[in-house]
Amino acid sequence: MSALISVKNLTRVFDVSKPWLNRVIERLPKAHLTAVSDVSFEVPERSVYALVGESGSGKSTIGKMVVGLLRPSSGAVEIEGVDLANSADAAAVARVRADIQMIFQDPFASLNPRWRVRSIIEEPVAVQGGDTQGLAERLLEQVGLAAVDADKYPHEFSGGQRQRICIARALASEPRVIVCDEPTSALDVSVQAQVLNLMSDLREEFGLTYLFISHDLTVVQHMADVIGVLYLGRLVEEAPRDELFATPRHPYTQMLFAAAPRMDGFGREIVPPKGEIPDPINPPSGCAFHPRCPIAVERCRRERPEMRAVGGARVACHLAQ
Ligand code: ADP
Ligand code: MG
Repeated sequence: MSALISVKNLTRVFDVSKPWLNRVIERLPKAHLTAVSDVSFEVPERSVYALVGESGSGKSTIGKMVVGLLRPSSGAVEIEGVDLANSADAAAVARVRADIQMIFQDPFASLNPRWRVRSIIEEPVAVQGGDTQGLAERLLEQVGLAAVDADKYPHEFSGGQRQRICIARALASEPRVIVCDEPTSALDVSVQAQVLNLMSDLREEFGLTYLFISHDLTVVQHMADVIGVLYLGRLVEEAPRDELFATPRHPYTQMLFAAAPRMDGFGREIVPPKGEIPDPINPPSGCAFHPRCPIAVERCRRERPEMRAVGGARVACHLAQ
């Protein structure tokens, strides 16, 4: 299997300085926040790669760079071998962009309230000059809604139904890749499972590849083939799902599992483990996790661990074995 998505040393820094005048008066230096740092992973075609991590760990920033909504500060995202931000081949970039769609967390904010559902779903195809005859009706039925819903407005639907409309819209341009950023986090627990099942079914049916972003371990366990765990903008562990759940190797991943309340159903959210998330503007030296790590040694304060193979996983920890 070749990688459909290749993320290479991806880094994104935000300038979070105060306005110039404040800086001069208060004698403050410029401030930079590294939201994503040196992240590399690959997603084979027709698989689901999940990124998990606490709020602020850089998940959404990676998602936006993968779909090309945000430029990397350094590193690259390649889709089908085309570098989205830096390729000189405009035709190739346009072709590849048409193959990627994104679904966001908030199905209320992401649908234009003044448009009928038909226009919302057809728009990505209409702007390309494609054929929209019967498209909205067909897609609505595919996501478990009714063809007549095409004539309604978003406010006539529940949260779960709206997310189905977002999914229908994402499917309209026949993408190969969908980046899903917390697609069920805003939904009631009972509705989450239905939407996730729908997404699984659609993946099978259309041969889709998902980059699935979540702070919820249960959702990830349900959906993912491979899981990447983020901490403060860095990938700290990556493993096939069953391996990660059976043998979490990074002390941070172990802490996540220990903190997660054991539940059979949904709601096994990532409870921020003990200790505070460090300030991303002034991250700790060496391994960013060392101030919270129960097994940290002197080397962890000094030297940043690189990702290395441990068993069937990749782990960025000097001590993992
Ligand atoms: P997550 O999706 O995991 O919650 P984000 O990718 O949204 O994390 O954010 C990662 C870090 O980057 C956070 O510290 C956040 O405050 C910061 N950040 C995200 N977007 C911006 C921005 N546009 N400007 C400044 N800081 C940002
Ligand atoms: Mg986010």
